[in-house]
Amino acid sequence: MIYPIVKYGHPVLERKADPVTEFDTPELRQLIEDMFESMYAAHGVGLAAPQIGISKRIAVIDISGGEDPSQRLVLINPEVIRNEGRQRSEEGCLSVPGFREEVTRGARVTVRAQNVKGEFFEVTGEDLLARALLHETDHLEGKLYLSHLSALKRDLIRRKIRKLMKAGEWG
Ligand SMILES: [Zn+2]
Repeated sequence: MIYPIVKYGHPVLERKADPVTEFDTPELRQLIEDMFESMYAAHGVGLAAPQIGISKRIAVIDISGGEDPSQRLVLINPEVIRNEGRQRSEEGCLSVPGFREEVTRGARVTVRAQNVKGEFFEVTGEDLLARALLHETDHLEGKLYLSHLSALKRDLIRRKIRKLMKAGEWG
């Protein structure tokens, strides 16, 4: 099932998501499948559960955009345990469509997470994968990439979005 993507302005995006405590259930497997499907349909490389209105600590990433199944990553209850170096590049978010901004992030990132069975594992990524790992774990803390921009840029984007909301062209 393809879920609609929740957009900036919805409170679920700014709330800390709840930990997953039940693993290896048909519901969890289905939700993860639906998250991949929804992410591919929206042409994203990462999606966090709050972005489909579900406040749970689950994120999926595929920096190949569906080209390479071996790149599929499922992160449940993820935690950033290493964040080294710096990279600066354009970043966007499916929940903030139509905007892209330069964001400084770590260049090499390690996340510890659980898989669908509840087993712990670690994944290390560089460049785009490092960026995706940080972007998606931020979502689970209720943080959008806008929080990494200067106050000036952030306010500018907020003002543009408010205009779109008023015109009925948002959400
Ligand atoms: Zn996002």
